[in-house]
Amino acid sequence: MKYDVIIAGAGAAGIMCAIEAGKRGRKVLIIERAEKIGKKILISGGGRCNFTNKKVTSKNYLSANEHFSKSALARFSQNDFIALVEKHGIAYHEKTLGQLFCDGSSREIISMLAVECANAGVEIKVNCSIEEVKKETSFLLQTTAGEFECDSFVIASGGLSIPKIGATNFGYKVADQFGLSIVTPYPALVPLLWSDKDRSVYGDLSGIALPVTVTCGKVSFSESMLFTHKGLSGPAILQISSYWKEGEAISIDLLQHIDLEKMFLKYRTVRSELGYILSRQLPKNFVQKWCGANYPSKPMNQISDKDLRKISEMLHKWKVVPTGTEGFEKAEVTAGGVDTKELSSKTMEATKIGGLFFIGEVVDVTGWLGGYNFQWAWSSGWAAGQAV
Ligand SMILES: Cc1cc2nc3c(=O)[nH]c(=O)nc-3n(C[C@H](O)[C@H](O)[C@H](O)COP(=O)(O)OP(=O)(O)OC[C@H]3O[C@@H](n4cnc5c(N)ncnc54)[C@H](O)[C@@H]3O)c2cc1C
Repeated sequence: MKYDVIIAGAGAAGIMCAIEAGKRGRKVLIIERAEKIGKKILISGGGRCNFTNKKVTSKNYLSANEHFSKSALARFSQNDFIALVEKHGIAYHEKTLGQLFCDGSSREIISMLAVECANAGVEIKVNCSIEEVKKETSFLLQTTAGEFECDSFVIASGGLSIPKIGATNFGYKVADQFGLSIVTPYPALVPLLWSDKDRSVYGDLSGIALPVTVTCGKVSFSESMLFTHKGLSGPAILQISSYWKEGEAISIDLLQHIDLEKMFLKYRTVRSELGYILSRQLPKNFVQKWCGANYPSKPMNQISDKDLRKISEMLHKWKVVPTGTEGFEKAEVTAGGVDTKELSSKTMEATKIGGLFFIGEVVDVTGWLGGYNFQWAWSSGWAAGQAV
């Protein structure tokens, strides 16, 4: 069967591209390996899909080229997606930091996209995997359901995160086949792991959450952090994990709203113990473990000024050296991907291979936590949809 446009993958990016291409009168087919469309949308945002963010700029993305995302994000912005959501009467709310979630369920976003696909005349084939791609004058696709042909071929097959729900390396394989370079993919928005020593101290604090500012290199995030059996998680840690490289330390300000050195001055002459003073600001269990590992608790009036300064510094800049991440199994996204220098930022078409497009997570553009990854999927999908 011959189509104008075939899209590999019925995730956020692929569906948005299909809708736009269909609206332009193109004969469009989406081929999806899984048994249904939008499986990641379904599980996103804890089942409520954090579909975009009220404030989106290219600064909310990691990429070897920080400017690449600008054009697509400007041409189809968060406001355009919000307008679509409102057109379909989907109720939503802002949770925190501009993050917009459905009041009901992620299913509403999938239904909205399915209706838009139907209105645009898009065909969708599920339970079908693309196995081989050849380019002659058009693209010839060998699939588990036979051969297909198209003039424009769009790769929207996502990254490597959560293989359990169908992630594949298909997009990178196609890029490689056509000689396009790839920025090595790595798990991002992912929990970090304790060293053996830290696990033996902090491992049973699992479940404790704290507001913190976490820093890696020049990047900082102020959000909540969660202790787990294996290491650290929660929004602040997921955010910084995208910037963290093996061997590096992260620095955690455990008392971001307090000047601890000043506070200690108040208690300088009292007999109360350090642990007691600290546990007025931090969870008692944590303070016990921290003191045990770093500075045995004793009465405040027996601690020198120098040591109090040191303790203050250690808690405002708690250094943790993770031994790794929980990997693609647990990563919300894959950072890295098809190198943006191979693609047009306006159309997402490969500059060397006419008719071949890459959109969404498979591209080396990775958003922060907070709706930014879906916005990139909608924006890049929309941009390609205007060009295919
Ligand atoms: C648990 C979880 C929660 C998340 N929550 C949010 C959130 O709330 N907000 C946010 O912005 N981001 C969130 N994300 C990230 C977001 O889901 C992704 O960035 C986004 O879905 C990427 O869209 P995509 O279309 O590029 O790829 P995907 O959604 O991964 O879609 C790719 C599709 O291609 C199909 N495919 C792969 N190989 C082939 C092949 N060979 N042939 C045919 N089909 C193929 C796959 O089955 C899949 O359906 C979350 C991610 C996870 C894992």
